[in-house]
Amino acid sequence: MACVSFPYDAPVSQTLFDRASLVTPGGVNSPVRAFRAVGGTPRFMVSGTGPYLTDADGREYVDLVCSWGPMILGHAHPEVIAAVQEAVGRGTSFGTPGEGEVALAEEIVARIEPVEQVRLVSSGTEATMSAIRLARGFTGRAKVVKFAGCYHGHVDALLAAAGSGVATFGLPDTPGVTGAQAGDTIVLPYNDLDAVRQAFAAHPGEIACVITEASPGNMGVVPPLGGFNQGLKDLCAADGALYISDEVMTGFRTSKAGWYGVDGVKPDLMTFGKVMGGGFPAAAFGGRADVMGHLAPAGPVYQAGTLSGNPIATAAGLAQLRLLDDAAYAKVDAVSKQIQSLVTAALTKEGVAHRLQTASNMFSVFFTENEVRNFDEAKAQESFRFTAFFHSLLSDGVYLPPSAFESWFVSTAHDERAIQHIADALPAAARAAAEATA
Ligand SMILES: *Cc1c(COP(=O)(O)O)cnc(C)c1O
Repeated sequence: MACVSFPYDAPVSQTLFDRASLVTPGGVNSPVRAFRAVGGTPRFMVSGTGPYLTDADGREYVDLVCSWGPMILGHAHPEVIAAVQEAVGRGTSFGTPGEGEVALAEEIVARIEPVEQVRLVSSGTEATMSAIRLARGFTGRAKVVKFAGCYHGHVDALLAAAGSGVATFGLPDTPGVTGAQAGDTIVLPYNDLDAVRQAFAAHPGEIACVITEASPGNMGVVPPLGGFNQGLKDLCAADGALYISDEVMTGFRTSKAGWYGVDGVKPDLMTFGKVMGGGFPAAAFGGRADVMGHLAPAGPVYQAGTLSGNPIATAAGLAQLRLLDDAAYAKVDAVSKQIQSLVTAALTKEGVAHRLQTASNMFSVFFTENEVRNFDEAKAQESFRFTAFFHSLLSDGVYLPPSAFESWFVSTAHDERAIQHIADALPAAARAAAEATA
């Protein structure tokens, strides 16, 4: 990183970051937004339109982060904005049930066959936390199996060997999580069914659930090997444990029915967030009606939220989901493929060892020539090349996730002009990656 020079041409962002750093730890409200892994000043964005973001210095970027997934229709989509404006005019929160919640729940249930009932929450973290509590309450068991490199939000029990920011910053298991909170968590290598088999053999009748990203995107994109998800489901079923598929990232993105729509493996419980909120805090967990029926007030497992099913968030989510028809997914897939081939061509031309991995329209680049099947293999890449690649693209107006361990996201709004901009920026970025030294 030391040898990468980044242009400090973001004076307004720098001033804002200095102000932010005085009043907010690290200057950001979520660690992945900081540029710690790549160096330099995080860009403060002031507006977004379609595939573009504009920063506080007035520079425009083609956005390949899309708010870490939610903005699948691009920024400020007119129909989503109209739905939000209409909802805001009627008041912002009532603390009572409302029709928007019913409509959003119906939309989710209609799209995703394994979801018979769903409970709305405000973040993916809340969704996975609640799903695990429910799995423990339903089974009367304590232990949870998760995979290294999978991120399920910052739930205490699930921060062990987590992906996303925890991976980016190479943090050990985080201070503040007690041994008791993490003690019932069994962390296994991803894509290793034998390890799961051994865990069930070592703890028969003790494992409440296996939670996995439906297709991981928080250690970079590392899709499940053929039969892995089905194997998890079968091992869970044989032991009486629940199979929880975390679709907070993949849900409503990788297909109309998320990753379930791709691999068809039926989970007991699922979690959602990101796309379903249309850029607002809305998330959900759902699944088998007999399991969901254990939630309060229908059952004894407590779960609640003052702003759960918020009318603005549900209006935004519903408007976005209703626009996501087959044609929209075909468009996102096509945009993704176009950008993938541009990236591959540019890196290949410069002789940069790389592997572009995909999960439907999610993709990321690992700077290694080997297939990446798990977190250890992801960490073995030459991340210093990513740093050079990232800064070259940033200075040419292309905004990538500031980490080599994150998925890239595209939208229906990425048009020919935006793609041409990426194509024009890639050769210099590939050259920078080729010339980078550790
Ligand atoms: C983003 C994410 C979460 C956490 O969602 P938040 O809304 O950030 O709390 C959980 N699981 C997965 C797979 C995610 O990608």
